[in-house]
Amino acid sequence: RVIALEGGEGVGKSTQLKALSDLLAKRGIEVVLTREPGGSEGAEAIRELLLQGEEKRWNARAEALLFAAARSDHVEKTILPALERGAWVISDRFLDSSLAYQGEAGGLGISRVRDLHEFGSEDFLPDRTLVLTLEPSEGVLRAKHRDGEADRIGGRSPAYHGAVLAGFRKLAEQEPDRVKLIDASGNEATVTARLMAAIADLMP
Ligand code: C5P
Repeated sequence: RVIALEGGEGVGKSTQLKALSDLLAKRGIEVVLTREPGGSEGAEAIRELLLQGEEKRWNARAEALLFAAARSDHVEKTILPALERGAWVISDRFLDSSLAYQGEAGGLGISRVRDLHEFGSEDFLPDRTLVLTLEPSEGVLRAKHRDGEADRIGGRSPAYHGAVLAGFRKLAEQEPDRVKLIDASGNEATVTARLMAAIADLMP
C-alpha cells in the first residue's frame, strides 16, 4: 500500500508521519518512510535544485517538470521495489502536492500537471492521500511560530496558501475514494486517530 500525507504549511505533517508509521509498524507492517521531492538518490538531487537557492529560480513549467522527473525516479527506484517485497510506503507529499501547488496555486491547471505524472510515472497513484487541513490562517500562524517568518511562509503569500488548500479540496471532490481531507485541528492523538480511521479499510 502507498499512503501519501499532504497538507499546507504548519499542519503538523511531520509529527503525524512519524505517529502513523509507528502505529503501522506496531501492527507488524514494514513501513518505508519517504518524501517528495526526493526519496531516491536522483530525486534527492532534484530536490536540492528545487528547494535550495533563490525563490523564483524556476518558471512554473520547469518547476512542474522537475517535480515530475523527481517523482518518476522515486517511484521506480524506491516505491515499486518496496511494494514488491510487501512493505507499505508512507510518503511525505506526493503527486497531489504537485496538483495543488504547481497545478492549482501555480496556475498550470490540475489536469496538465496530472498529464506530466501520467508520462513520468505511468499515472502511478497512492492508495490513499490524506490531506491535513487547517484554515490557512491557523496553519500560517503555526508555521510562523516555528520559522519566525513575518507574513510569507516558505516565501509565499497567504493568497498562494489559500489556493493550495482550494486545490486539495478540488482533488478530494474529484476523487473522494482516494483523496481524504483530514481535520488537523485538535491535539496530536486526535489527529492521528482521524488518519488511522481514514485508512482502516486498507488494513490487512
Ligand atoms: O512542508 P514541506 O516541508 O513538506 O514542504 C517543502 C516546501 O516545498 C513547501 O514550502 C512547499 O510549499 C513546497 N512544495 C511545492 N510543491 C510541491 C511540494 C512542495 O511547492 N509539489
